[in-house]
Amino acid sequence: IKKIGVLTSGGDAPGMNAAVAGVIRAANAKGIEVYGIRDGYKGLINGWFEKVDIDFAQEILTRGGTRLGSARLPEFKEESVRQIGVDNLKKAGIEALVVCGGDGSYMGAQRLTEMGINCVGLPGTIDNDIVSSDYTIGFDTALNTIIEAIDRIRDTMQSHNRAAVVEVMGNHCGDLALYAGTTTGCEVISTSESKLTEEEICEQVKVLAKKGKRSVIVLVTENLYDSNALAKKVEEKSGYVTRATILGHTQRGGIPTGMDRYLAVTSAIYAVDQLAAGKGGVYVGLDGNKLVARDINSTLNMPRKDKSQELSTIRLLNSQFKK
Ligand code: ATP
Repeated sequence: IKKIGVLTSGGDAPGMNAAVAGVIRAANAKGIEVYGIRDGYKGLINGWFEKVDIDFAQEILTRGGTRLGSARLPEFKEESVRQIGVDNLKKAGIEALVVCGGDGSYMGAQRLTEMGINCVGLPGTIDNDIVSSDYTIGFDTALNTIIEAIDRIRDTMQSHNRAAVVEVMGNHCGDLALYAGTTTGCEVISTSESKLTEEEICEQVKVLAKKGKRSVIVLVTENLYDSNALAKKVEEKSGYVTRATILGHTQRGGIPTGMDRYLAVTSAIYAVDQLAAGKGGVYVGLDGNKLVARDINSTLNMPRKDKSQELSTIRLLNSQFKK
C-alpha cells in the first residue's frame, strides 16, 4: 500500500487534528503517502485532496476543531454518489482511507469498503456514544470544558442563592452529564438513560430549598426538555430564582486535553496498522484500556454499552438530597 487518505466527518471534536497527525506520522514511518481530504465525504466526491506531510501534522496536532474540515453529506447514502468518490480516489491512486467521525461516518466507511476502498474508522465525537468503545476522541476535552463552566456557574448561584438548569450535549448518551455532574457536585442529574420527569426534578429542588440549600444545579442532557421552560417550572415550584444555561457549541471546540491527544494519536497508529495489513470495514475503539478493531457491520445490532454502574451512581447522587 503506497497512498492513503484521511478525512474527518460528522460533528467536529477536539483531538480530530491529533488523529490526522497520528495517521501522517504512522503512515510516513511505513513509507506510505497521506492525502488529506477536505470536508469529509463532501471533499471525497469533489476531489478536494491535498498531500499532507510531517510539518502539517506538527502544525495541527495541538489544535481544536478539524483543520481538514468536516461536513454532512446525506446523499452519500446513495451508491451512485459514493461511486464518484471511489472514482476520484482511484484516479488519485489513493488505495485506502482513515475516517474519523461518529456512527454515521462509519456507515459511509463500511459502504466504501464494500465498493473496494478499505476504510478504518476512528471514534471522533465528544458524545462518547460509540458502541463498545470506552471513550471517544473529544470526550475528555468536552468534559473538562463543561466542568469549568459549571464551576463558574456555581460561584454565581452560591453568591446569589439561586438555582440553575445546565444543558449539555451528548446526543442520546448521558456520559457528559454523568461525568460532569458527578465531578462538580450537581444536585440533580437527568440523562437519556436515567431520565427524571419535570415533576421529579422540581420536587427534588423544592426539598433542597426547604432545607435551606444555598445553591442548586440541575444538569440535563440535550434533547430531553425545553431547558428554559424547565427553569421557569423549577423557579415556580422551588422559589429559587432559576435560569437555564445551554452550553451549546462551547463544548465542541478548544485545545484537546492530553488524554484526547493520546487516544487520537495511538488510535490513528493502530488504524494505519489495520490498513497496512489489508483490513477494512473496521473501527478502532478502546476496550478495557486496550485498542481493538471491530467490524463495523458486527456492531450494528450490538446492545448499547452496559450502563448499570453509571445508572446506580446517578440514582445515588439524585437520592441523597431527598427527604
Ligand atoms: P456525530 O456523532 O457527530 O453526529 P456522525 O458521523 O454520526 O457524527 P452523521 O451526520 O450521522 O454524523 O454522518 C456523517 C456522514 O456520514 C453523513 O453526512 C453521510 O455523508 C455519511 N453517512 C451517514 N450514514 C450513512 C449511511 N448509512 N451510508 C453512507 N453514508 C452515510
